Amino acid sequence: MKTATKCIQTGYVPKNGEPRVLPIFQSTTYAYDSSEELAKLFDLTQDGHMYSRISNPTVAAVETKVNALEGGVGAMMTSSGQAASLISILNITESGDNFLCFSNLYGGTTNLFSVTMKKLGIEARFINYSMSDDEIRALADDRTTLLFAETLANPSLEMLDIRRYADLAHSLGIPLVVDNTFATPILCRPFEWGADIVVHSTSKYMDGHAEVVGGMIIDSGNFDWKDYPGLTEPDESYHGIVYTESFGKAAYITKCRTQLMRDFGSTPEAIPAFLLNMGLETLHIRMQRHSENAMAVARHLSKHPKVAWINYPGLESDRWHALASKYLEGGYSGVISFGTVNGKEGAQRFMDSLKMARIVVHVADLRTCVLHPASTTHRQLTDEQLENAGIKPEFIRLSVGLEDIEDIISDIDQALEEV
Ligand SMILES: *Cc1c(COP(=O)(O)O)cnc(C)c1O
Repeated sequence: MKTATKCIQTGYVPKNGEPRVLPIFQSTTYAYDSSEELAKLFDLTQDGHMYSRISNPTVAAVETKVNALEGGVGAMMTSSGQAASLISILNITESGDNFLCFSNLYGGTTNLFSVTMKKLGIEARFINYSMSDDEIRALADDRTTLLFAETLANPSLEMLDIRRYADLAHSLGIPLVVDNTFATPILCRPFEWGADIVVHSTSKYMDGHAEVVGGMIIDSGNFDWKDYPGLTEPDESYHGIVYTESFGKAAYITKCRTQLMRDFGSTPEAIPAFLLNMGLETLHIRMQRHSENAMAVARHLSKHPKVAWINYPGLESDRWHALASKYLEGGYSGVISFGTVNGKEGAQRFMDSLKMARIVVHVADLRTCVLHPASTTHRQLTDEQLENAGIKPEFIRLSVGLEDIEDIISDIDQALEEV
């Protein structure tokens, strides 16, 4: 199946006489005829649902769809994107370990990595795109477990050279974990370029309607976990099961669910999963239109006298255009960042003068919206962290929606008049 077909036809497939549309299985639990059968589920020797903290049929259908879109061996939905990032790391990282990550990550991720992870005894070692491979290698040691990156960074819109960093990670014997939220599998499939694990905040384009918070972890099945004892040695909490032996290529994603989801309980519910599924059914069309609208807005802004600078990977003049053109297919997504003239005050003037586009703590949904990261999502970061994340005081993140392009541009123009 091609991507558009996968959006619509994968996941839930009804059998003869069953509902055409994914049913909402709003049930915490599942009934069995014999306790022996249930015991097999607890031993992980038989597939099936037992308790919705661990799995649920509605959620499972959505996991299957996203797994098909990314081209993995298995996926696990989580209650938020934050939970997905957290679990993707804790699944192979323990107290005393460290991991490498880029400094341009989403602000919430940077908080999680630099503050909360530290309290768990896990050290995030920050790297950036100006470092050489040798400089990055010098930061790794035998307790380094992974390299974490965003494909298209939120909000700096820097494009990851996926192949380069996958090769670098593999030369260190560690997997590349990428947050593919802004690109979505419609525009970029990181596994095709060597990434090993993909995570998503499904709260953004995947849901697309700003309705439900959620996350997803997808396993490529390609990484060899031989140096990760958590996967190759017996798990006491499952009668000594060894994930790599029992689950082969799906060892990582199975452990995510049976161990970490079981214990942490950052569980997605059936109704949010149903809504996410509905969003995914139109993701291919929405990403195309988001990209077209954003390109038109970016071209317009790039010529506007009240605009000091603009980042959009679709513009030929953009620093990341060549890399983005290599890795993105069918568009450059819908987010633009730019600075107005007159610094922070100009930016605030612009934002407060918008009539249709609203100021919201969100991005990547069908309604055009704006945000000033330095005073909101990235407020907790120090000035140095802000600079490393590529965020200036006048930085505006503009998420271009699916309204008529003429209405979007006229709203922006009247607000720029006020700057
Ligand atoms: C929003 C976001 C997250 C966090 O996801 P939530 O669903 O809000 O928990 C992680 N990464 C990126 C790139 C995001 O944009």
